[in-house]
Amino acid sequence: MKEKKTVSFSKNSTNIFFHILTKCNLNCLHCYINKEQHGKTTLSIETIKAWLDAFAAKNKIANVVFLGGEPTLHPDLPSAVKHAKKIGYKSVTVDTNGYLFNGFLSKIAPDEIDFISFSLDGSTKPTNDMLRGKGSYDQCISGIKESVSKGFNTSLIYTVSSANIDELAMMEPLLSELKIGRFFIQVIGIRGNIAKSVSFAGKEKPQVLRQRWLDNIPIIAEKIASHGIIVTYPKVFLDPEDKFECAGLVADNYFIFPNGRVYRCPLCEDYPLHSIEFKDKELVKTDKINEADLFKLSIPEGCVMNKLIQSGNLSYKEDESPEYKIACCLLKEEV
Ligand code: SF4
Ligand code: SF4
Repeated sequence: MKEKKTVSFSKNSTNIFFHILTKCNLNCLHCYINKEQHGKTTLSIETIKAWLDAFAAKNKIANVVFLGGEPTLHPDLPSAVKHAKKIGYKSVTVDTNGYLFNGFLSKIAPDEIDFISFSLDGSTKPTNDMLRGKGSYDQCISGIKESVSKGFNTSLIYTVSSANIDELAMMEPLLSELKIGRFFIQVIGIRGNIAKSVSFAGKEKPQVLRQRWLDNIPIIAEKIASHGIIVTYPKVFLDPEDKFECAGLVADNYFIFPNGRVYRCPLCEDYPLHSIEFKDKELVKTDKINEADLFKLSIPEGCVMNKLIQSGNLSYKEDESPEYKIACCLLKEEV
């Protein structure tokens, strides 16, 4: 059996999740981008560099993930990646839907980037394309093959929901066949498109109930890890002995959007609750009330934002106390 470890929060490194634009060629059912809240701007390369510089100055160890929208739609993404490496970011990752616009893989060398992460949300074409759009499965697989064949460290992200949990086990042979080095399992959040829609892929609700999650995710993760693939998945449901911690208080994560908003908590991103923002090239704190005021609240259900926006994954006893606590959405297990 592979050793399982909880990836605990740390302020020893700064992690930035940098949305350099919100434009995308797809419109996934569960897309969390909310243009009313995050803007429609495509950041200039000068602004991207200045904002990278601002976060690099915060901590000796900083990691960046470039996101969108689809980040490869930005013609200056290779320059942004190279700048991040030049100014000392420890790891640089690009998350892509696999379309790899602007010849991205030919404008960067494997030693200039740490990971290219592809998003696939089904092990079969019908399921993935129902969630992410027609043709996206083939395009993603072909992008992965090109990335692996060119020598890039290649990882894959699978966002688990009620619509695709049954196909997660089938990822085991596919990941080996594609020579994927890391596999990130994520959990669907009630944000962006989902928060606005009344139904999700014909299912009663997008979320997976606790018992189904526990019966599937850790076991499948371990099987996949037995092939030498590093697997990361969110904890979601805390065990009784686990201590609840809010990453907003004990970690150093920043989710940056092109309109200048900087969130510490991804679950706040549908609301103007960001606690920091860029004014020109300077990082400034926002006025109260913002997400930082919520982080301090202590409730029996664990995560406050989970209770506010996605309480469908909570369950209560007869005396109305919660059956379990929900972990911070940023708490991960790794095998
Ligand atoms: S590829 Fe990403 S940004 Fe584009 S629609 Fe899908 S989830 Fe949203
Ligand atoms: S998800 Fe919950 S616990 Fe995590 S940072 Fe947000 S409010 Fe805090």
